[in-house]
Amino acid sequence: MSSSNDIRATFLDYFRRNGHEVVESSPLVPRNDPTLMFANSGMVQFKNVFTGQEKRSYQRATTAQKCVRAGGKHNDLDNVGYTARHHTFFEMLGNFSFGDYFKEQAIEHAWTLLTRDFGLPKDKLLVTVYSEDEEAPVYWKKVAGLPDSRIIRIPTSDNFWRMGDTGPCGPCSEIFFDHGDKIPGGPPGSPDEDGDRFIEIWNLVFMQYEEGPPGTRVPLPRPSIDTGMGLERFAAILQGKHDNYDTDTLRALILASAEATGQEPDGQWKTSHRVVADHLRAGTFLMADGVLPSNEGRGYVLRRILRRAMRHAHMMGAREPLLHRLVPALTRQMGAAYPEILRAESLVVETLRLEETRFRSLLERGLGLLAEESGKLGDKGTLPGEVAFKLYDTYGFPLDLTQDALRGEGKSVDTEGFAAAMAEQKQRARAAWAGSGEAATETQWFDLKEKLGASEFLGYSTESAEGSI
Ligand code: ATP
Ligand code: MG
Ligand code: MG
Ligand code: MG
Repeated sequence: MSSSNDIRATFLDYFRRNGHEVVESSPLVPRNDPTLMFANSGMVQFKNVFTGQEKRSYQRATTAQKCVRAGGKHNDLDNVGYTARHHTFFEMLGNFSFGDYFKEQAIEHAWTLLTRDFGLPKDKLLVTVYSEDEEAPVYWKKVAGLPDSRIIRIPTSDNFWRMGDTGPCGPCSEIFFDHGDKIPGGPPGSPDEDGDRFIEIWNLVFMQYEEGPPGTRVPLPRPSIDTGMGLERFAAILQGKHDNYDTDTLRALILASAEATGQEPDGQWKTSHRVVADHLRAGTFLMADGVLPSNEGRGYVLRRILRRAMRHAHMMGAREPLLHRLVPALTRQMGAAYPEILRAESLVVETLRLEETRFRSLLERGLGLLAEESGKLGDKGTLPGEVAFKLYDTYGFPLDLTQDALRGEGKSVDTEGFAAAMAEQKQRARAAWAGSGEAATETQWFDLKEKLGASEFLGYSTESAEGSI
C-alpha cells in the first residue's frame, strides 16, 4: 500500500524528472496578498509569476501545497464530517508551467502519472472539459484514448477559471475517479453530481487569456499551466478506500481520538472523530504558520475551527482538554514532510490546552442553554437570533458552532436576527458612552469595538476577491 508520504514523494519526483523545480509549500498565511485569508491552492505563491510581474529562474515547478479552505470564497468548513472528500486543511499536489509547455503536454503528464506510474485503471477515469474548449477533447482522445462518453462538456464557470475580475484566465479540465455503483451520486454535470461516487481528483487549468475590462479578452502570448490534485482524495483511491478519512494519515488521528475519548472510531461518534481529526490538523498547521486564536481575522477563523472541534470532543464525553493530547499523533504522521509542525509542537500543545481550558466551562453552560432553547422549538425549528447572539456574546459560541450543533436535529438559526442583535448591541454601547467626557479613550474603545465587530463578520462572509483554482 502506498502511504500518503510515498504518494507525495512519487508525485514530486515524477515532475522533477520531467524538468520541474521542486518548490516548497508556501506558508498558509499568504505573504503579499491581503485579499486572501489563507493559501487555498498551489498557484497562490505563483500569482505574480503567472502575471509576469515576477521572474523565477525556472519555467516549470511542482509543489505539495498546504491549503486551508475555511473562509472566503472557498469555505469547506460545513462539509467536514459530512462528505467523504472535504477537509478544512488538505494538501494540494501540483505542476506548473510558466509560459513553457501547454495543454497537450499537461494532459499527457497527468495521464501518464495516473495510469503508468500510479497504475490507476483507465476505465475508472473520466474527465470534464469546458464546453467552448475544442482543443482539450482532442488531446484527451489522442493521449488517453478516452471515448466521447467519458469526456463531459461543462458549460458553467466550474470549468472556466479566473484569477480575479481581470487578469489571466482560461478553461480547465478536471479528472474524476468512479468509485463504483455502490456509492450514491451521478457523474459531473448530472443533477446528482454532489454525491460521492464520482470524485474529482485533479484540476488542470489552461491559462490562455488575459481579461481586461468586461468584454475584452485577449490571448496570452505565452499561455501557462496550473494544476491541483488533492493528496487525500488520491490516497483514498490508491489505498483502496472510498473515503478520505479512511486513509493512513487521517485514520491515525481518528484512532488517537478514539483512544483519548474511549469511543469507538466507527460507532455512533464517527462524524465527531472526523471533525476532531480534521480540525486538529487545520489548527496545528495554522498555529505552526503563526496564526494564534483571537477575536479577529485569521485568528478568529482558527478559534472557530478549534471551538467546533471542542464541542465534538465534549459530546464524546471528554471533560478535560483533549485536543492537545492528539498533537503527537499528527507530528508522527506529517512531521517529516512538514518540520514546521515539529518545531511548533510545544507551542501548539500549550495553546490548545489553554484555549480549551478557557472555553470548557463556557461551553458546558452554553450547551445547557442551547439544549433548553432548542427544546422549545418544534421539529426543524429556527432558533431566534437573540438566543444565538447571547450564546455568541456571553458564552463565546461562534455562530457557525451553534448552526453546526443544531444541524444534527434539522434545525437552523435566524441569521438575520443574529445580525440585528449584534447591531443593536453596538448601538446600545455607543449610546451608553455618549457624553462621558473621556473623548480619547472613548474613540479608541469604539475603534476597537468597530474593528472586532466588523472582523467577526468577515469570518462569516462567503465572498471575497480571491483567486485560486
Ligand atoms: P470540489 O468540487 O470537490 O469541492 P473543487 O472543485 O472545489 O473540489 P479545486 O478548487 O478544483 O477543488 O481544487 C483542486 C483539487 O483540490 C480538487 O480536485 C481536489 O482534489 C482538491 N480539493 C479541493 N477542495 C478540497 C477539500 N476541501 N478537501 C480536500 N481536497 C480538496
Ligand atoms: Mg470545492
Ligand atoms: Mg469541483
Ligand atoms: Mg475543481
